Amino acid sequence: MKLHMHVLIALGLGLKRNWHIFFGLIAGVIVGIFLHSHQNPVIMGLLTIISQLFIRLIQMVVIPLVISAIVIGITSVGDNKQLGKFGKKMILYYGIITVAAVTIGAVLSLIFQPGLGAAHYIAQGTAHDIQNTVATTIAAQKGQLIQLFLSFVPRNPLEAIAKGDIVQIIVFAVIFSIALAKVGDVNRSLVSFFESVFAATMKVTDWIMYFAAPGVFALTALSVSSFGADIFFSISKYLMVLAIGFAIQLFVVYPIFLKVFSKVPVLMLYAAIAEAMMVAFGTASSSATLPLTIACCEKRGISHKVSSFVLPLGATLNMDGTALLQVVAVLFLAQAYGIALTPLLIIQIALLAIVASSTSAGIPGAGLITIALILNGMGLSPEQLVAGFAFLFTVERITDMMRTLINVTSDAVVAAAIADNENEINYDLLTNPSAYNEII
Ligand code: ASP
Repeated sequence: MKLHMHVLIALGLGLKRNWHIFFGLIAGVIVGIFLHSHQNPVIMGLLTIISQLFIRLIQMVVIPLVISAIVIGITSVGDNKQLGKFGKKMILYYGIITVAAVTIGAVLSLIFQPGLGAAHYIAQGTAHDIQNTVATTIAAQKGQLIQLFLSFVPRNPLEAIAKGDIVQIIVFAVIFSIALAKVGDVNRSLVSFFESVFAATMKVTDWIMYFAAPGVFALTALSVSSFGADIFFSISKYLMVLAIGFAIQLFVVYPIFLKVFSKVPVLMLYAAIAEAMMVAFGTASSSATLPLTIACCEKRGISHKVSSFVLPLGATLNMDGTALLQVVAVLFLAQAYGIALTPLLIIQIALLAIVASSTSAGIPGAGLITIALILNGMGLSPEQLVAGFAFLFTVERITDMMRTLINVTSDAVVAAAIADNENEINYDLLTNPSAYNEII
C-alpha cells in the first residue's frame, strides 16, 4: 500500500474514534479567536470552570496511578537482569530521541535565525509581572544545580505525596519497588494491593474521559483567546522554527527510530494513541495525560509490564519536545541580544537543555522556567535576558501545547519499541484498530 494511503487510513481511524475530542479542539480554536476580540466575562468564566474541572479530575488520579504503575511495572519485570535490561534500554532510547530533538532545534535556529530583529519587541511594559517572576526564579536557581539535584530525594515520602512533588514521588517509588522486587514472595500482599489501586484508577480515568471533549474545548478556547491570531505574526519566525522542529520529530525522527529499533508500524501507533495526543495538546501536561497514555498503550497491544514501567518514568524524565523548545528559545535570546554563538557554546546549550528538560515536571509551563538552568550553565547574566523571556511568554501556552504533544508521543514510541524488542507487544491488536477496546 502507498504511504499516503496508510496516512489516510490512520487519520481516518484516529478521527472516527476521536472525532469528539478533535471537534472540541477545532471548536476551541475558533471560539478562542472570537473571544479574543469579543471579551465576554460570562463565557470566559464558564470556560474556566469547565477546564479547571477537567484538569482537576485528571490530576486527581495521577499520584495513585504513578505509584501503583511503578510498583507493578518494576516488580513484574521481576529479576534484576531483566529490570536492568529494560532500564538501560529505556535510558538509551529516550537519550537518542532527545539528542535528535536538540540537534534539530539547534540546526533550525541557526538556519532561520528567529531571534534576529526581535530586539525591538522585547521591551514590553505589560510583561512586568512575568519578568519579575522569571527574575526571582533565576535568582533562586543561580548556582544551585547541586541543591536542585538533592531536592529530588524526598526527606519524607508522605510529605512528597501531600505536596504532589512528582519527581520526589518517582524517586521514592522506584527505590521502594526495586526493594520490593528483591524481597521475593513476601511482597505479594503489597503488590496485589497496588494492582487493585491501579485497576481502580484506570477505571476512574475511563469515566473522566467522557469529559475530554468539553475539557479540551474549554482549555483550547481559553488559551487561544489570551493571545489571538495577531501574536502569530509578530513572532511567527520563532513559532515557525518550533513547528517545523516538532513536525520533524513526529514525522521523521520517530518513524526512523521505530524502523531502526523495532518493527512497530508508526502510523498504527499514532492511531492507537490519538486520544492521548489530543489530550496532551489540550492540557499541556504530560503528567495529566499519563492515565490516558497508559490506557491507550495497554488497550491496544503494548503489554502492561512495559507500559507501567516505561510510561510513568517517561512522563517525567523524557521531555524531547521541551528540550527542542529550550534550545530554540535560548538561541533566540542569544540572537536577539547579539551574543556570539560559538560552536562550543551551541553544544553546551544543547547538552544543558537535555538536563534541564528532564528536570522539568510534566506540568504546564515547567519547561520555560527550567531554561534558567541553561543560562546559568552558560555563565550568562540571566537578569539581562528577562525582557526576552517576557517576549517568549506571550506565546508560551501554545508552544507548551505543542511540546507536550511531542513529549507524550515519544513516551509511547519508546514504550512500543521496548515492547517490540522484548516480545511484549500484541501486533494483532495494534494493527487491527477495529478490534481496539474503546477508551471513551
Ligand atoms: N508541559 C510540558 C509537559 O508536561 C513540560 C514543559 O513545560 O515543557 O510535558
